[in-house]
Amino acid sequence: MVIGAAALVAIGGCRKLVSSSHTSLLLVSSQCRQMSTDAQSVSEKLRSSGLLRTQGLIGGRWIDSYDKKTIKVNNPATGEIVADVACMGTKETNDAIASSYEAFTSWSRLTAGERSKVLRRWYDLLIAHKEELGQLITLEQGKPLKEAIGEVAYGASFIEYYAEEAKRVYGDIIPPNLSDRRLLVLKQPIGVVGAITPWNFPLAMITRKVGPALASGCTVVVKPSELTPLTALAAAELALQAGVPPGALNVVMGNAPEIGDALLTSPKVRKITFTGSTAVGKKLMAAAAPTVKKVSLELGGNAPSIVFDDADLDVAVKGTLAAKFRNSGQTCVCANRVLVQDGIYDKFAEAFSEAVQKLEVGDGFKEGTTQGPLINDAAVQKVESFVQDAVSKGAKILLGGKRHSLGMTFYEPTVIRDVSSDMIMSKEEIFGPVAPLIRFKTEEDAIRIANDTIAGLAAYIFTNSVQRSWRVFEALEYGLVGVNEGLISTEVAPFGGVKQSGLGREGSKYGMDEYLEIKYVCLGDMNRH
Ligand code: ADP
Repeated sequence: MVIGAAALVAIGGCRKLVSSSHTSLLLVSSQCRQMSTDAQSVSEKLRSSGLLRTQGLIGGRWIDSYDKKTIKVNNPATGEIVADVACMGTKETNDAIASSYEAFTSWSRLTAGERSKVLRRWYDLLIAHKEELGQLITLEQGKPLKEAIGEVAYGASFIEYYAEEAKRVYGDIIPPNLSDRRLLVLKQPIGVVGAITPWNFPLAMITRKVGPALASGCTVVVKPSELTPLTALAAAELALQAGVPPGALNVVMGNAPEIGDALLTSPKVRKITFTGSTAVGKKLMAAAAPTVKKVSLELGGNAPSIVFDDADLDVAVKGTLAAKFRNSGQTCVCANRVLVQDGIYDKFAEAFSEAVQKLEVGDGFKEGTTQGPLINDAAVQKVESFVQDAVSKGAKILLGGKRHSLGMTFYEPTVIRDVSSDMIMSKEEIFGPVAPLIRFKTEEDAIRIANDTIAGLAAYIFTNSVQRSWRVFEALEYGLVGVNEGLISTEVAPFGGVKQSGLGREGSKYGMDEYLEIKYVCLGDMNRH
């Protein structure tokens, strides 16, 4: 088991890191010992509970890739190899699709109540294993353990919600246009779903898709990110324990383009649901066209957090801090641009920087850590290049602005003032712990700047005026708006973007519709006796 190898790296005196992207970095010995102890105890616990899975799940069986190839999963905080998982491709994906297709007949014919009971059992198991799943998330993704356990509760809430919602997939009876007719509408599951998910929420991005899919009667082939497959596999193991039948839920990971192609070209797959980068989302949407699949996309954002002169300063600081620095800035709803009105700009800059300074950067397993590492070195290099670009164009660093002394992929929480619209960080997703402050004069300016982007996922506004909040949230071209609140995601509300941030909604009653087809039935000759 490769966890053993990780431990060896540590015991062997903190040699060079094994991750190829991190080979130039060395660990400090105390950190290394600390991490490996945690990694080992986590792996031992997970192994004994059967939650450390490294094979794919096809037709209810755990299997290696057919050519026995594997991929390594790293701990981003240390570079240690956590596990070797099966590296699958076209053949395995085709078999997973076939098993989902077969399972669809029986799963979709169960009553909603029967499917609901299975999902409820899955929810109970996810919650019962909250700690272990949280540890697994920290291990492969890096976020602080408390935040990771929070993700488990959040992720599981979608399974609970859709266990309940399964029983509420109502149709309609429509008043007929002719007296001898009766018209009705049925909602039916769409069929086999391909779900492709990213690394920033290794559990929640899966449950948001699989919950409504299974609840509605669909079957699913999940492809988790190759960077964070372990949480997905553990969740799938719990799904089996809960009674999700063989084939209803498959998990394949490895060669992303091959798996994507197999899912997209198969006429058996009727729906693709994707969370990830806008570039990949566009490719998938185009590739879904030849077989006319239903597509849901949750893509990149460029969220403005707008602080008006009349805002409560504490609320604005707290809300923007939460919206910006959750998951070290690695979420698509993270505040990407902080727009601050002239009259409050300096006060806000000072109070916000003070709050950011208190954030604790460190290994996610260390008590008190609020900021973990970035996912990999490419992510840090991107942040560095954005900061360099802003500074070269006149922005001023108030705090941070460089890699953290912990090394690896740790980056200092950063606040930059005097950022303008021509800088790259105003236009593209930073996906890191950098808050750019942009000055504006009027409400109209704020709305214009906020909407001046191809993205349209989340926006935040801070104001004490009820009238202004209505004017502004109505004018914002975004799918989600937080008013005096920086954390707004919940399973009971619809999550999704407009413009190039995507199509469709996840969570809430609207999220169920993404997995349902509407069938209209016209009964004729109804006046016959
Ligand atoms: P991120 O930058 O968040 O990793 P990506 O869009 O690259 O976003 O990745 C999100 C998911 O999409 C991951 O599971 C990744 O493996 C998958 N992916 C990337 N490229 C493709 C592709 N060509 N076909 C199918 N899936 C892909």
